[in-house]
Amino acid sequence: MRLLALDLGTTGNRAIVFDRDQNILGQAYEEFPQIYPRPGWVEHDPEAIWKGVRRVLKKTFLKIPASSIAAAGITNQRETVLLWDKATGRPIHNAIVWQCRRTADFCERLKKSHGDSIHQKTGLVLDAYFSASKIRWLLDHVPGARKKAENGRLLAGTIDTWVIWKLSGGLHVTDSSNASRTMLFNIHDKKWDESLCRLFGIPLSILPKVVPSSFSVGVTDKKITGAPIPIAGIVGDQQGASFAQGCFSPGVVKNTYGTGLFMVENTGKTPRFSKNLLTTVAWSLGNLDRTEYAIEGSVFIGGAAIQWLRDGLKIIQNAGESEKVAKRLSGNEGVYFVPALVGLGSPYWDSRARGLMIGITRGTTRAHLVRAALESIAYQTRDVMEVMKKDARAPFRVLRVDGGAAANDFLMQFQADILGIPVERSKIIETTALGAAGLAGLAVGAWKNKEAFNRARRVDRVFKPRRLAQKEFLYKQWKDAVKRSQSWA
Ligand code: ADP
Repeated sequence: MRLLALDLGTTGNRAIVFDRDQNILGQAYEEFPQIYPRPGWVEHDPEAIWKGVRRVLKKTFLKIPASSIAAAGITNQRETVLLWDKATGRPIHNAIVWQCRRTADFCERLKKSHGDSIHQKTGLVLDAYFSASKIRWLLDHVPGARKKAENGRLLAGTIDTWVIWKLSGGLHVTDSSNASRTMLFNIHDKKWDESLCRLFGIPLSILPKVVPSSFSVGVTDKKITGAPIPIAGIVGDQQGASFAQGCFSPGVVKNTYGTGLFMVENTGKTPRFSKNLLTTVAWSLGNLDRTEYAIEGSVFIGGAAIQWLRDGLKIIQNAGESEKVAKRLSGNEGVYFVPALVGLGSPYWDSRARGLMIGITRGTTRAHLVRAALESIAYQTRDVMEVMKKDARAPFRVLRVDGGAAANDFLMQFQADILGIPVERSKIIETTALGAAGLAGLAVGAWKNKEAFNRARRVDRVFKPRRLAQKEFLYKQWKDAVKRSQSWA
């Protein structure tokens, strides 16, 4: 049985075809441009995303015919949101990306009066990260948008919703895991929350129907995919990765090293709350009553720090080079980089924090910057782990890892050293896609249950923690550097 995963990431779009044993039969990937209209603002062109999706599908189907695919699973960068015209299908503005800070002031004001109640209902910390304030911004700033929305002429959606609408020729849906990241979804009732919609000034009618993550919602338009393919899985990227990593019970934790860093622990059938982490829907299997929850730490800049060294500073040519350059030094020589390039997410939640490099001397070279950037990824992961550990019901014995930057051996070893627990790298780094394929496969009977799907999970390498001289001193200095980066903008 062949399962197609469509991974609509922050950096690019990827299509992968898996078989039932988690072998990759074919794949295609394409990056798309990031748009930075102002400092701290990030946008994507939804038409560019859609064109990219069509191209990666076309490339994949050259090798593997669409007619041979049993089901498709869609997974996506979460929270990123757009509005489009129902009749013409044209977006009314670029999508506002999860990292975008344009609504930070609004959220900061709202946090004082509504922070606690919103956390209770949605599991989320009031922050510009989530979709609600971004939809509000679009309705307020695009001429005529609010009126059109009120007249039922606009549709809202995260990237899964947009691409499924295009792929299916008009299905307007999202799944519970994506809905739980909008700040408009009540995670207890599993419904859009009318009072939150009112608070953000968003007509409920523009929101998509919420469906389970593993469930046949419809088929793709054969004019687009060549043959109709059942769309049977929809899941946010981090929840997808957790599914693939077998995070099915408390104590089993995964961390994904992509654009950002996302640590997730499944907490089972009831949501668990922690002050500085997020409570979120993990997935719903077949039915919204079969919803599982997770606790999550979301760090905004992870692999993106390396992307910035490549594209912004141009001191490395490709992300892989960072490993070789960092290894030229035997230590950080006192140089720290806090990559608060779009503020700080978990566990600090400081939208005014900004990037900081400290400890620079005349002897500082590009190797120090590269090493400090890689180390910052590991320190931020420890920051989240420290908070997660406090509320944990089971000890964390190992960290399961994946994502683009998990390919970096230097980073993974340093991660194990600084955490003091083994880091287990998945054989398939594209766990996000694998999770989506797994959820789709489950809906069409490829496996009996999620455990059966997960039996094929394979480990590439385990990084055992080494005794690191001055481990706690290094971490303390990092925390000190973070303090200095805060409340700046
Ligand atoms: P996303 O799904 O968020 O688009 P990916 O999982 O595809 O992200 O990972 C891409 C990110 O990982 C980029 O930010 C890139 O800079 C970083 N990255 C890729 N390879 C490496 C590497 N070898 N070392 C460090 N960072 C890397």
